[in-house]
Amino acid sequence: MTEKTNGQKMLETLSYSKKNIYEEASVEKIKAISDYSEGYKSYLDSSKTEREATETSIAMLEKAGYTEYKLGQSIAVGDKKYLNQHGKCLIAFRIGTDDIEREGIRILAAHIDSPRIDLKQIPMYEEAGMCFLKTHYYGGVKKYQWTAIPLALHGVVVKADGEVVKISVGEGENDPIFYINDLLPHLGAKQSQEPLGTAIKGENLNILIGGLPYDDDDVSDKIKLTALSILNDSYGITEEDFISAELSLVPAFKARDIGFDRALLAAYGHDDKVCSYPALTALTDTETKKSVMVVLADKEEIGSVGLTGMQSDILVDVINEICRNLGKNSAVVRSASKCLSADVTAAYDPNFADVYEKRNSAIVSCGTTMSKYTGARGKSSTNDASAEFVGFIRRLFAENGVIWQTAELGKVDAGGGGTVAMYIANHNIETVDLGVPVLSMHAPYEVVSKADVYSTYEAFVAFIK
Ligand code: MN
Ligand code: MN
Repeated sequence: MTEKTNGQKMLETLSYSKKNIYEEASVEKIKAISDYSEGYKSYLDSSKTEREATETSIAMLEKAGYTEYKLGQSIAVGDKKYLNQHGKCLIAFRIGTDDIEREGIRILAAHIDSPRIDLKQIPMYEEAGMCFLKTHYYGGVKKYQWTAIPLALHGVVVKADGEVVKISVGEGENDPIFYINDLLPHLGAKQSQEPLGTAIKGENLNILIGGLPYDDDDVSDKIKLTALSILNDSYGITEEDFISAELSLVPAFKARDIGFDRALLAAYGHDDKVCSYPALTALTDTETKKSVMVVLADKEEIGSVGLTGMQSDILVDVINEICRNLGKNSAVVRSASKCLSADVTAAYDPNFADVYEKRNSAIVSCGTTMSKYTGARGKSSTNDASAEFVGFIRRLFAENGVIWQTAELGKVDAGGGGTVAMYIANHNIETVDLGVPVLSMHAPYEVVSKADVYSTYEAFVAFIK
């Protein structure tokens, strides 16, 4: 090999370019990436709603020695605890031996809700030989993507006597699935002329659930009655019970590898289980003297509001309780704490190149992605992390050999989006966004690079160890 020229050496030292993890990785590293994705796949398949993600995550935490904590209980150094917030949000924490006022708490915050189709409270009706359920979609969905695909029904029904019945239909090989009709192209000439956003209306996202009439000539709505009788036989519920139910339609797809080389992974709900799973596994895998907290929040897709969203007081309530028990000052602890707000970002897609600014976009397989700021229309509603904090993270990743990248979500004024970072920063906790680049974000089947998932895990481990 010929020696490098001065110009080549200068370029190497002075210029910045992204690295493809697969290109840099050893055979062992590629195997570690692939092995890690297997655990992630089973997490995805058992966590399609925030309630299920909470249950799956609790099982992982308990296996790692974490026990349930309720507000008011005592907390001591060495404790490994989790708080279950109404079955939809989880705050896990471990109290380290380091002085918590000096070192603060290292917080990893992700969300476990994903866009989906929710049932209305009076959903059921029959028309033209079919029974349907009325819906109201949840989060930012492109409605046309949810027609003509297999859907599974997940959720809970609270019966008149208060009994909670869990429902999950459509995941098993022999389960029936549910379905939203679309128009045949032969009659779709006018529909094809409509913008994508309005071609399928919200009130047309009706779920096809049956077609068998009840065997009794003296009743009307026979198909609906068949469905009601099956629901009553299977779950003991009546039509009125839908009023106190939370039932959602989610894609009945399992997580699957993409492509001949299996480098990429398709699944429903990467946003944001692709950050939740690395946060949980980083917590349970890493021995550290630091105090660490993992927050898996609900309602991010609709504004992080309410009891189980990141804007709830519960986060600060738990920090206050930790501090009260340890005889520490919560304001001091929060000011010393640091947080990675772990959410997905848009991966650069050459098929839609015009909405991205390529130099500042996340490139698939180039690692976990830090966004100093998000927001839209002139950084509106963003937590803009300080250069000092970004510098701290940069040093940390360099010391730990984490391959990572930086990006913003699309071109200036092309759109934009926000995450939970600002709500955490509002508590005087230094926060920056970091997460996995996703292709086809919010589609029923989203795509990530397995290398980026593993890089996010490595980044979290470096941050909390
Ligand atoms: Mn998200
Ligand atoms: Mn989202």
